[in-house]
Amino acid sequence: MSDLFGGLGGLMKGISGFMPQDDPDVRLMLAQSEVSDLRKRETELYAQIGKQALAEGHVRFPEVENSLRLVQQNLSAAQSKLQSAQADKAEKDHTRRAEEEARLCPDCNNMNPEGVKFCQECGTKLGAQKCTGCGASLFPGTRFCGECGQGQEE
Ligand SMILES: [Zn+2]
Ligand SMILES: [Zn+2]
Repeated sequence: MSDLFGGLGGLMKGISGFMPQDDPDVRLMLAQSEVSDLRKRETELYAQIGKQALAEGHVRFPEVENSLRLVQQNLSAAQSKLQSAQADKAEKDHTRRAEEEARLCPDCNNMNPEGVKFCQECGTKLGAQKCTGCGASLFPGTRFCGECGQGQEE
């Protein structure tokens, strides 16, 4: 987990240079541009069919229709790629938020550095979880709430 933050910091610094292809943000961007390119191509092919239909007076154009089918196949592949990139990005954002929350002191709102167990401003134990039953603050790893007896999920 600690690597994630280092990696992100590095990414922010080097954003204009090398962009790793497996980064969810980059994958999302690439998938979005692929989908929009293919949509554009699809529109062009439809326009071509329409133009030819008008000019030549018939409505079947096997060659253009084949390209259109190909573009549509690629489009649906690109769209599922886009969806998976969006899901990965949501997961990454969730992880990042959870990590930030664990560093944020619940008492004084001080944002502590990574890996710190107690707030550097007020000494409150960090990473406390809330009871899923009554909302009482629990120490990390508590299995049953001392207030209401509710079993806690890991
Ligand atoms: Zn604090
Ligand atoms: Zn409880």
